[in-house]
Amino acid sequence: MLERLKDRLRDAPDARIALVGFASDENSSFMRGPAEAPPLIREALRSDSTNLWTEDGIDLGDGGVLFDAGDFEASIEEVTALLLKHGKTPLALGGDHSISYPVVRAFAEVHERLDVLQFDAHPDLYDEFEGNRLSHACPFARIMELGVVRRLVQVGIRTMNDHQRAQAEKFGVEVVEMRRWDAGLDLAFDSPLYVSIDLDVLDPAFAPGVSHREPGGASTRQLIDTIQGLRGCVVGADVVEFNPRRDPVGLTAAVGAKLVKELAGKWGHS
Ligand code: MN
Ligand code: MN
Repeated sequence: MLERLKDRLRDAPDARIALVGFASDENSSFMRGPAEAPPLIREALRSDSTNLWTEDGIDLGDGGVLFDAGDFEASIEEVTALLLKHGKTPLALGGDHSISYPVVRAFAEVHERLDVLQFDAHPDLYDEFEGNRLSHACPFARIMELGVVRRLVQVGIRTMNDHQRAQAEKFGVEVVEMRRWDAGLDLAFDSPLYVSIDLDVLDPAFAPGVSHREPGGASTRQLIDTIQGLRGCVVGADVVEFNPRRDPVGLTAAVGAKLVKELAGKWGHS
């Protein structure tokens, strides 16, 4: 698989953004399904029901913009490292949130310092969950232990408990709880920025296709406005936790595709 990707990268020297799927949900704690997500987000992205233009006027259908690296079930860190080595900006599709740890590990190899912006209903800061230190409830504890992340900002949190609050304090995490997230939220970053979007940050009314539905979340518009308004140099991103088994009418796939477009739009302006 990696050899084939190397060959394909040679044929796509110009494209700046690399869409890559990581079909992994073995570290999910509650239910399976996110491993089936990447092809469905791609299908929604390419659907004739819409077009590939971002709201900022970038045409992702232009062959020079987007490279599709395909889907992988393993070797997440190696695939991400290969894309970075070829000068691509990885935009990863989960999979569950556990994929963010190996992805960010590849970034930590090439960046001395990073900022991370996480949109999520959950802090995902457990030291371990049900005996699994790589659980999708733990990735941001592992990421902070890498020692290269200068700032972790979590937005949309609404399930904080005592253990994770202690972890947030230990790692110096800046938490913007859902109830404090309003239009005035000003997000600015100095270091290369990695953006991680867990779709359960959205209210289940907007994105029902997630494993852990947490009511009282953000609107799709609120999230897009915040992405468009954030200041910083985005070097990579992921969209995770889409569970197609919970998305009977394909609504959440369309939301995932929209977020992919608007994230890619950020690279045209940052
Ligand atoms: Mn979550
Ligand atoms: Mn998460």
